[in-house]
Amino acid sequence: MTPYRGRFAPSPTGPLHAGSLVAALASWLDARAHGGRWLVRIEDVDTPRCVPGADELILQQLAACGLHPDEPPVWQSQRGALYQAALERLIEAEQAYPCACTRADIARSHELAGRTKPRHGELVYPGTCRPERGGLRGRGARAWRLKVPSGEAGRIEWLDRRLGPQAQALDEAVGDFVIKRADGLWAYQLAVVVDDAEQGITDVVRGEDLADNTPRQIHLQRVLGLPTPRHLHTPLVCGDNGEKLSKQNGATALDLSQPLRTVRQALTRLGLAPTEATLTLDEALAQAIAAWRARWSTG
Ligand code: GLU
Repeated sequence: MTPYRGRFAPSPTGPLHAGSLVAALASWLDARAHGGRWLVRIEDVDTPRCVPGADELILQQLAACGLHPDEPPVWQSQRGALYQAALERLIEAEQAYPCACTRADIARSHELAGRTKPRHGELVYPGTCRPERGGLRGRGARAWRLKVPSGEAGRIEWLDRRLGPQAQALDEAVGDFVIKRADGLWAYQLAVVVDDAEQGITDVVRGEDLADNTPRQIHLQRVLGLPTPRHLHTPLVCGDNGEKLSKQNGATALDLSQPLRTVRQALTRLGLAPTEATLTLDEALAQAIAAWRARWSTG
């Protein structure tokens, strides 16, 4: 069996909060419970959203919680050549194509087709710039998109270790999706797939809010000929308003004046509250590894 390699992949858009610590801790526990390695990857490709210094702060917060990566962290902003090479392979394989559409263009073609805007999320891309439909037709290229097959071929099924069997019809849920953005930045989907493969990640453990990205990532892995890791999506932490805790809705940075208390709270959210007898952070973490192994071990 391939040796276990897991990762925590924070976007440095601010310090860790109670929700991101749960994801970090879950990925660390899963790696430790499997006797594997745990890596940290700073996902700083979306530069307009990054906050200077947040990367170092996150690494310090992880260390204060006793979560130490087994290899030096990597920064996505330094890995553009890998993403470019993947894009070139996709272009060569006629799986990626340039797109000239703005959001307004996409909305207009939905209107023309009599489709109303979905309440949540992005509009499904209608395939306007697909090469077989005439391509750019003289308009300037903005983004690069990946083709998603329609019908059965575009129906992605996977097994989440916590959520169970999952399925998504890519053409109905997202359509041909962006892998390089109109502003020239690499899209999360491409960067994460290239990096997970390049770093030999066998297990992705992350928050449930990312679960619906998984089918796009699996499709990308297939067209690039890369292995698909196992997935476990962890429960989200909600704020008082019932919404997922996030930097956008005002989650505050972790209070690390008492790391044991903070880690205990995160463990409780994972259903792994340490017993009262626990004295130190290391003991609480060791207890949690054993509890996690009993619950989630895949052998
Ligand atoms: N960078 C992503 C985030 O902070 C997580 C990526 C992943 O775990 O796949 O939401």
